[in-house]
Amino acid sequence: MTRERRVALGCLMVLVLAAAVGAGGDPGIPLYEAARARYRALDADGPEARNPESWRAAARRFRRVADEAPRSAKADDALYMVGICRERAAALSAGPADRRAAVEAYDRLARAYRDSRLADDALFRAGRILEGAGDRAGARRFYERVLRDTPSGDMVGAARRRLRDLDRPTAVAGVRRWSGPRYTRVVVDLGHTVAYQVGELPADPNAKRPPRIFVDLRPARVGRGCERCVAVGDGLVRRVRVAQHDPDTVRVVLDLEEPADHRVFPLEGPARLVIDAFSSRSASEDVVARVLREGAAGRRPFRVVIDPGHGGKDPGALGPGGLKEKDVTLAIARELASLLREREGWEVRLTRDRDVYLSLEERTARANAFGADLFLSIHANASPSRRARGIETYYLSPSSDRAARRLAALENRGREEDLAEMEHILADVVLSAKVEDSRRLARAVQEALVDELARSVGPVRDLGVKQGPFYVLTGAVMPAVLVETSFITHPEESRRLRDPAFRKRVAQALAKGVEAFARGRGG
Ligand SMILES: [Zn+2]
Repeated sequence: MTRERRVALGCLMVLVLAAAVGAGGDPGIPLYEAARARYRALDADGPEARNPESWRAAARRFRRVADEAPRSAKADDALYMVGICRERAAALSAGPADRRAAVEAYDRLARAYRDSRLADDALFRAGRILEGAGDRAGARRFYERVLRDTPSGDMVGAARRRLRDLDRPTAVAGVRRWSGPRYTRVVVDLGHTVAYQVGELPADPNAKRPPRIFVDLRPARVGRGCERCVAVGDGLVRRVRVAQHDPDTVRVVLDLEEPADHRVFPLEGPARLVIDAFSSRSASEDVVARVLREGAAGRRPFRVVIDPGHGGKDPGALGPGGLKEKDVTLAIARELASLLREREGWEVRLTRDRDVYLSLEERTARANAFGADLFLSIHANASPSRRARGIETYYLSPSSDRAARRLAALENRGREEDLAEMEHILADVVLSAKVEDSRRLARAVQEALVDELARSVGPVRDLGVKQGPFYVLTGAVMPAVLVETSFITHPEESRRLRDPAFRKRVAQALAKGVEAFARGRGG
């Protein structure tokens, strides 16, 4: 072939190739889209999502993309999703196989697709998985690869922090707790986040030991001034003990009155570990207890917890003229509570009814302890742009878009980077959240707000129902949403938020939304 012909042929092939790709010639894309659609269906909560085998099947569908179309533009996304799916399976199963498969997928992504925008996330997640499993040396190798192989990725800061803290013992500073009938939340305050393992021990009558839940934190030391034994005595948890189990490990033990279900998750900024214990008494006993408590003819009340965002030392977002989010949210919450209390058979509680600081974990602890049927956290939005305006409602999700993550970081009083670190952990918590009901509640509230306010005060911008990694929704066992009622940073909306008549209208609209939701579930 002459050089000219070769060049011409080369050009032709490039054109053909470009045309093929442009016309959907990437065989990976339809495979990926199909896998993605099945993943989304699985992600909506249901019995399928609680079966690790479903997640393994989802992982296989994504793996096909990378195996059959390794050059596809979606091959790296697919491998990332293999990792995510196997992590979801790992959260539901005991063995190490799922964790190992997730690490392998992330490792393969980072090796085969070095320039992928997901390479740093994949390496970081692999590190977190190994760290969680107690393999600090393995974790270190992955964190170091984040710095070396993806120096411009946005996980560099997080990887550097994990490397700094990996072998540095955390100080266990103390224990806080909240109780309700059949529910206890214990929060362990830490110097920084470290790996932890959760276990159960049955009652040991010979040694006069009750059933126990324990959490081993490693590397850790009992901090100076940390109470070693905290009496609880709420009928479920007898007491909490904190001890240096071995030179590297602090063990936190919950001595139980009876065997209990549990769930453990960490929060960042400041670092703490949340341990929820739920009475595992059977549902039939539950009915008996309820009849005894409320009378045979008594119907269980519909319980609502309204959470006015922020408070005390945390003013929330600030508007023009010194308007504080914490005051706006409290005023709306009070109005809403008094409206809902008029409904027969409804019990309504506020997480705070005055200007006081509450931690985010305390807010859901109160709702869980109360046995609430729904949890509504009220907020006012903020943006660096004075033009941002409108109403939006969120429910909990570990993965969300950039804007949602930014807002969540603001509401969590934490860093956006911490949320990236938290995502895989939140995935476990979301498994036990009422995702489908929360989405329905979010829609009901958002629709009512937009419709009512459009009628009574004029045009409002409907920013829609969204998902975000909000701490205040994390660990709620009932449908839970966070509503951003307006932008406190927008001149016109801020003026409205200051007006008692507008606050009342917002409360009326929220009441309609909550009632629509309750009707839908036969409440
Ligand atoms: Zn807020």
